[in-house]
Amino acid sequence: GRKFFVGGNWKMNGDKKSIEELANTLNNAKLNPDTEVVCGAPSIYLDYARSKLNPNIDVAAQTCYKVAKGAFTGEISPAMIKDCGVKWVILGHSERRHVFGESDELIGQKVAHALENGLGVIACFGEKLDEREAGITEKVVFAQTKFIADNVKDWSKVVLAYEPVWAIGTGKTASPQQVETSRLTLNKHVSFTSVTQSLSAVLSGSVTGGTCKELASQKDVDGFLVGGASLKPEFIDIINAKA
Ligand code: 13P
Repeated sequence: GRKFFVGGNWKMNGDKKSIEELANTLNNAKLNPDTEVVCGAPSIYLDYARSKLNPNIDVAAQTCYKVAKGAFTGEISPAMIKDCGVKWVILGHSERRHVFGESDELIGQKVAHALENGLGVIACFGEKLDEREAGITEKVVFAQTKFIADNVKDWSKVVLAYEPVWAIGTGKTASPQQVETSRLTLNKHVSFTSVTQSLSAVLSGSVTGGTCKELASQKDVDGFLVGGASLKPEFIDIINAKA
């Protein structure tokens, strides 16, 4: 099996001062060495975050484009991310999907390109509240994960984050049963033993220092992707959730 994985997604928050403070807090904390820790920084601070965090804490970009270079104003490539010493990228986050209109197909292309260029990928999927209420959660999750899975050959470089949109920033988290359903849907694409052994599926949405221990003990939870709480010292408790 894989190490327990805890990713932080800072989203569009922070500045050099707060990043330095957070880095100092994380660098000086006692972090479980059996947990893989990754902080998702805004593009413009990737280099800075990498320079401030200890080497045992990885950095992730929050998005990237699907090709290596060219006339794509505003975008960044996996090669640029790697050039800043950064090893990961978050792809398919619900805010990229729903605020910026990224399709399942585009996300699949980005996953393929990022993996080909040697980045680790934190690939997000999850249904919206109206989709859950309409009873089409499995259909949505199946489509999203199919476009991801079709573009992955080596699962050891991928972390899948089940991030139901209704759980993001709302104080609600997916129940064990909902996590199991997402895992079963996922297994329709990736059902081989060799794959499931290297597959890491993490839970996301309103994970906090207060809820992380119980969530970490659930079957099918290989870690977390954390938004709001990853900007605070309680991120340390989440990193250390798995005893
Ligand atoms: P919150 O932890 O703030 O709910 O955000 C979850 C998220 O979107 C992480 O990518």
